[in-house]
Amino acid sequence: MIQPILPGAAIGVLGSGQLGRMFAIAARRMGYRVHTFSPDQDTPTGQIADVEVVAPYDDLDAVESFARSVAVVTFEFENVPASTAQAANRAAPVRPDGAILHTTQQRIREKRFLTKTGLPITPYREVRSLDHLHQALNELGYPAVLKTAAFGYDGKGQFKIDSPERVQEAWSAVGHQESVLEAFVDLQCEISVVAARGDDGQFVHYGAIENLHSRHILDHSIAPARVTPEIANRAVEMSRTVLDQLGVVGVLCVEFFVTRGGQLMINELAPRPHNSGHLTVDACVTSQFEQQLRAVCGLPLGSSGMHRPAAMANLLGDIWSTGEPNWPAACAFPDVKLHLYGKLEPRPSRKMGHLTALNHDAEEAYRTVVKARKALT
Ligand code: AMP
Repeated sequence: MIQPILPGAAIGVLGSGQLGRMFAIAARRMGYRVHTFSPDQDTPTGQIADVEVVAPYDDLDAVESFARSVAVVTFEFENVPASTAQAANRAAPVRPDGAILHTTQQRIREKRFLTKTGLPITPYREVRSLDHLHQALNELGYPAVLKTAAFGYDGKGQFKIDSPERVQEAWSAVGHQESVLEAFVDLQCEISVVAARGDDGQFVHYGAIENLHSRHILDHSIAPARVTPEIANRAVEMSRTVLDQLGVVGVLCVEFFVTRGGQLMINELAPRPHNSGHLTVDACVTSQFEQQLRAVCGLPLGSSGMHRPAAMANLLGDIWSTGEPNWPAACAFPDVKLHLYGKLEPRPSRKMGHLTALNHDAEEAYRTVVKARKALT
C-alpha cells in the first residue's frame, strides 16, 4: 500500500493541455497544489497550476528537478520519451508507472501486450517493409488500414488501403516507417470504457460511453452508450483485465470497436483521462480527473455514479472560422455546460473546448448538445 499523499501536497503533471487543466481544477478544488511541465508557456494547464515549468521533455535535468518539487508525478500527455518518465522517477513516484506509458505509446508494443491478455483485438500484422505490407494484405485482404507504430493521434499517420493500386502510396504516406496493418472493421459503433484503479486494486468505471467521430476526431460522446447491457458489461470486464494486467495506478481508457455482429474488439488504450470521459465532470459524482488525483495520491476512489445521462460535443477551432462563437446562445440551454480550455489560438481541428448536455434520457441529451453547438455559429 502506498502512503497517502494528502491535500496541501504538490502534484506534478507532465504535459500542459486540457487534460492537465481539468486535472488541475479537480486537484485545486481538493486543496492540492499543481506544478505542470511542458515546452510551452501560458498553457491550458499552466493557467490553473501554481507553477508552470517551461522546458523540453528531453531536458532530463529539468525533469528531475521538477519532480523534486512535487510529491508524485502523473501525466496528461503520454507521448513523452521513456527517459523523461525515468528521470522523473529518480526524484518522485510516477503514476501510472513509466513502463505503462512505454507499452501504450507504440502500437506494436500495445498490440503485443493485448495479444498476451487473450482479449479480442482487431486482426493485424506488423509491417516493416513494402514486402511485409504486400504479404500482410494477402493475409488480411482489402480494405485495410495502415497505421504508424509510433502513435499519431486523431487519425494522423493512418491510410486506408482499398485496392492493390494504393499500396505503394500508403507505404509512402506513413513515411516508410514501422507500422501495423489492421483489417478494416465493419462497425456498428465505437465505445470506450474510462476506468480508474487504485494501488490496492480498487476498480471503478463509468460504463460504456459511445463515441461518434468526424474526420477521425472525436465529435460526440454519449453516456450511457446505446448498446445492449451485455455488450457494455463485456467491455467493462475486458477493461478491468487491461487495468489489472498493466497494474495501472490512475485512469486508463480502453477504446473498442463494436462490429455489426455484436463482437467487441479493442482498438487502443490511453493511460490517462480521455476526451470521451469529459462528460463525467458534469454528469458524475466523481469525475475522471478527480479519480486520477485520488488514485495517484493513494486515496480511496470516489463513486462514478451518474447524476443523469449526458452527451458531449467537442468544440474545435473550426467554429471560430466565421468569428467569435455566440457563447450566450449556447448558455441559453439551461442543461448545457460550457468548457473552454484557455487556448490562445483557435486553429482548425484544434480542441478548444466542449459542451456537455444533461438529460434524463441520453438520446435527448445528444439532441440538445447538437443544437447547442449549432447555436454557436
Ligand atoms: P485510431 O487513431 O486508431 O483510434 O483511429 C481513428 C478512427 O479511425 C477510429 O476511431 C475509427 O473510427 C477509424 N478506424 C481506425 N481503425 C479502423 C479499423 N481497423 N476499422 C475501421 N475503422 C477504423
